[in-house]
Amino acid sequence: MRIKIFFLAVFIFQFLNSFAQPRYKAIKAGKLIDVVSGTVLTNQIILIESDTIVDIGPSVKIPSDAEIIDLSKSTVLPGLIDCHTHLTSEPSGDYYADLFRKTPVDYAVLAPTFAKRTLEAGFTTCRDVGAAAFVDVALRNAINEKKIPGPRILAATIFIGSTGSHGDISGFSPYLHWQMPENMSGVANGVEGVRKQVRYNVKYGADLIKFGAGAGVLSEEESVGAPQYTQEEMNAIVEEAAMWGRKTCAHAHGTESIKMAVKAGVASVEHGSFLDDEAIRMMREKGTYLVADIYNDDYIMSEYKRLGYPDKILEKERLVGKTQRESFAKAVKAGVKIAFGTDAGVYPHGWNAKQFKYMVQYGLTPIQAIQAATVQAADLLGWTAKVGSISKGKYADIIAVPSNPLDNIQVLETVSFVMKGGEIILSKK
Ligand SMILES: [Zn+2]
Repeated sequence: MRIKIFFLAVFIFQFLNSFAQPRYKAIKAGKLIDVVSGTVLTNQIILIESDTIVDIGPSVKIPSDAEIIDLSKSTVLPGLIDCHTHLTSEPSGDYYADLFRKTPVDYAVLAPTFAKRTLEAGFTTCRDVGAAAFVDVALRNAINEKKIPGPRILAATIFIGSTGSHGDISGFSPYLHWQMPENMSGVANGVEGVRKQVRYNVKYGADLIKFGAGAGVLSEEESVGAPQYTQEEMNAIVEEAAMWGRKTCAHAHGTESIKMAVKAGVASVEHGSFLDDEAIRMMREKGTYLVADIYNDDYIMSEYKRLGYPDKILEKERLVGKTQRESFAKAVKAGVKIAFGTDAGVYPHGWNAKQFKYMVQYGLTPIQAIQAATVQAADLLGWTAKVGSISKGKYADIIAVPSNPLDNIQVLETVSFVMKGGEIILSKK
């Protein structure tokens, strides 16, 4: 009887094992972009064990039980990183309905679709910089627990802004009143107020802190670019975040607000539309990253009228779009550190790679544009040990395209293969 049970157990074990994934995967890469050295290698083998890259080179020994993935006709590169997304939202087509008829529950319902689309577009990591009601934290956690597919997420949670700022809802009756838990709006004032808001965001899951240093475009307050916090408030936000081990990024279009944020010590300036020589010099000296969303002006100018946005906002975009691209070009020329970030959510999720074309048009070489979305982005995130290059010990976040993106950067807009943490997400023949 005992022997029978033993054989039965062996049989069940073998039966279950036949469904298990092979321990190793080996990718045969025809061309491989080494983003660290900026060179293209040929005929490389990437050996993956579980979710990690364990070996790479032209003559890596492939274990006999490894699953072979043949990408010998493709160009392989690390999974891309977008440092400025809003994975929980997208304009629905009615500006006022988005503002007044929706709740964070609506965002929560759609966020998994947006996350999946982003991952399938080759973006295996996102720094998500502003979401309502900690929907980004729930999304991040569900992805990490493998309940739903999506990119790795660093979540900034609630955007911190002053009363009447880009982070507030302005221009309506003062009798309009949202009822929500204290601090859920992200509106915070004074040194004490902003410190408390940082603590609140961290308490409920923020991986980094985002605040509005100056006025915005897609909101109804006046004078795009004007500072919306004092220097003391910005300093307090950055200092408080650092105390909790978090980096800070600042939404800043206007020159003065950019300089104040850089002075406060933010890790990155988002948008950076009106850069003068002094701002550029300060960013270079401090090593502040510029995360400039230089594609979406096209989308806003062609679609936002139809999507019901008021003329006031479109006027602001008209003012900012072109200047932002020129500022980007100046910053590139001066050697400011650039990380790829698109503001996805302002335009449809999954279109992230459309920005590469503009980054090349406005001064980066194709390899620099790819580095901005890989090694540089990983550095900004503080995730260099995990992602951003195809290297031993890092997550097997790997993508492929049919031809060399260094010849035509736009091939990144249609990836043919996506792997995240050793798992194949997409594989087009
Ligand atoms: Zn944004």
